[in-house]
Amino acid sequence: MSNDRTPRRGVLLIVASPSGAGKTSLCRRLMADHGNLELSISMTTRGIRPGEVADRDYHFVSPEEFQELIDQDAFLEWADVHGSRYGSPRAPIDKALEEGRDVLFDIDWQGAAQIAEKCPEDAVRVFILPPSLQELRRRLVTRSQDADEVIERRINNAKGEIEHSDMFDYVFVNDDFDRSYSELAHIYHAERSRRFRNVWVEAYRDDLLQEDV
Ligand code: GDP
Ligand code: ADP
Ligand code: 5GP
Repeated sequence: MSNDRTPRRGVLLIVASPSGAGKTSLCRRLMADHGNLELSISMTTRGIRPGEVADRDYHFVSPEEFQELIDQDAFLEWADVHGSRYGSPRAPIDKALEEGRDVLFDIDWQGAAQIAEKCPEDAVRVFILPPSLQELRRRLVTRSQDADEVIERRINNAKGEIEHSDMFDYVFVNDDFDRSYSELAHIYHAERSRRFRNVWVEAYRDDLLQEDV
């Protein structure tokens, strides 16, 4: 019996939330636990934060470079978020899917909508809610990576983002981190097991049915 679990159709796992709800922390942990999952590293025109590493957290580019990439159709999706531009480069996503891997996106609701429209079968959208807006503010302040006016802008945008959670496939509240992580991991595991993604099953099933007992 073959152990080869290819070919398969990869999952495009999209995690969105208002800024500070915890999506980056949850995505990092999911990446650490799953070798077959590749993180889509976004391009952005925003400045680098203390602690961020270029080309690990984001590819940081100028507004002119970003516009050139739009003109070359290099993004699967892109959007204006909190006054900067963010986009998911197409080439690494196509490569991961060709190799039978899954791709994780830490992006906003506008990007989630664009990917779901372009890849309706492959996209799985997860929205993470904060326990309260007070707690969201507390997390943004304790993360202490953004200036006060940037934090205010993000809090002011939070309700508009939460309003869009109704278009997502899954939604949960990030209160206790470990419980929330388990929820995200379970969603990923269940989606990965869906029969249409596991193209290899057909041949495997035939082998099972041929087996002498
Ligand atoms: P891959 O081959 O690297 O993608 O590995 P798997 O996808 O088989 O993932 C195995 C890992 O997932 C293990 O290290 C587990 O710790 C983790 N895992 C599986 N189920 C759960 C779960 O429900 N909760 C958590 N927290 N981790 C899980
Ligand atoms: P996002 O990527 O959504 O902006 P982060 O992952 O950067 O959010 O999380 C924002 C802050 O909240 C970080 O300082 C993170 O450590 C903290 N945080 C994340 N999840 C929780 C949680 N469940 N409980 C308390 N603090 C959390
Ligand atoms: P931050 O500046 O806090 O890293 O991200 C701000 C917002 O932009 C977050 O909601 C984040 O998910 C979103 N974002 C990051 N990368 C992308 C991307 O490639 N595309 C889209 N549409 N949004 C992104």
